[in-house]
Amino acid sequence: MYALINANIFDGIHEELIRNAAIIIDGNRIKEILPECSRNPEDMELIDLGGRYVSPGFIDCHLHFMLDEVPDKERLLNYQSAGGVLFDNADSYVAFRSVEFAKKTLEAGFTTVIDGGGINYIDVALRDAIRLGYVEGPDYFICGKQITAWPSHFRGLSEVVSGPDEVRKMVRKQIYYSTDQIKLEMSAPIRSVGRRLEKSELTLDEIRAATDEAHSLGMLVQAHARGAKPVKDCLQGDVDLICHGTGMDDEAIQMMLDKGAYLLPTLGSPDPEPSQKLVDAKSARVVELLKATGRLQWESVKKAYQAGVKIAFSTDSGGVGNEHGKNAVEMLRMQKLGMSAIDILRSATSEAAKAMNLAGDRGVIETGMLADIAVMEENPLKKLETVCDVKMVIRNGNTVKKQF
Ligand SMILES: [Zn+2]
Repeated sequence: MYALINANIFDGIHEELIRNAAIIIDGNRIKEILPECSRNPEDMELIDLGGRYVSPGFIDCHLHFMLDEVPDKERLLNYQSAGGVLFDNADSYVAFRSVEFAKKTLEAGFTTVIDGGGINYIDVALRDAIRLGYVEGPDYFICGKQITAWPSHFRGLSEVVSGPDEVRKMVRKQIYYSTDQIKLEMSAPIRSVGRRLEKSELTLDEIRAATDEAHSLGMLVQAHARGAKPVKDCLQGDVDLICHGTGMDDEAIQMMLDKGAYLLPTLGSPDPEPSQKLVDAKSARVVELLKATGRLQWESVKKAYQAGVKIAFSTDSGGVGNEHGKNAVEMLRMQKLGMSAIDILRSATSEAAKAMNLAGDRGVIETGMLADIAVMEENPLKKLETVCDVKMVIRNGNTVKKQF
């Protein structure tokens, strides 16, 4: 048992901070919170936070630890001996690399993440290795392989299906691999030649087969959906989580509201203003496609936010231009879009936990919750940039980083 003292707490929900508090941690849980703590708790180790700011550990509802689509020619050259070409990495190389990404992400204050699609079930192995303590990383929930009508642009990322029976079979295969969620790919990759925003890759019958199988076990279904029609088809087919949501029209947004579905906005995937590094590494056609898709996405996320659609923080880290460990930069993009600091912080804590069916034990700082904590220098409600420089991270009661 130990206590964090002199803490100013954002509890994951309230705009009003709990001031000068002590948080008593017993094992992996929060045992007690003592607000306006004038007397230090006795008979236990004390960690003085010196008035720093505490948030529930952040939750990223969509990333890819098996991917690293960050253009860095030098890095690729250095890694050439390991088959360093993005499209053709050896599985074992991808696995080793993911260990580093998991650690970086945890150290950035993300104590829980959901992988939106692994490669050749390496995510299953990584999850189990983290749980057993072989690898340091956040609490890691996975989707296994994406279920899709097209072979995806990353080798080993998806299982290609045709017809509801094959969908059921593939969902069952994911369940056999003990994945936590099911991921559908409803829109072809941005770069695919012949891709249309208005084309749903899976039919309504196929979507329903997936949600029926998954929901019978209480599993959530998330879908990569770019275009109003794919989003609407997903919602009609009872998909729980809409990822990207590019190009949603008013009807799609209304359906999101009616269904109470969460949007996973991934504003950095793609960013309408890509970094120079990305521009240098991609062809002009791809850069234009990424920019146009990004613009469309920001527009529809903004409309959805203003209409009151529920938003769960998601980065798509590992996807195009999104570096692992820089997940919190997405919060600044959300701010740029016009979201308030409190809504952004809730989306990365309490709302994310609700969206992922994990609200029972994380996402808020409260007695009985997992001791998952990020500590910052400044008040993130007043100065949001502080989320990009987390000074201390506690996951399940264990300190994994402390820089003060
Ligand atoms: Zn993704």
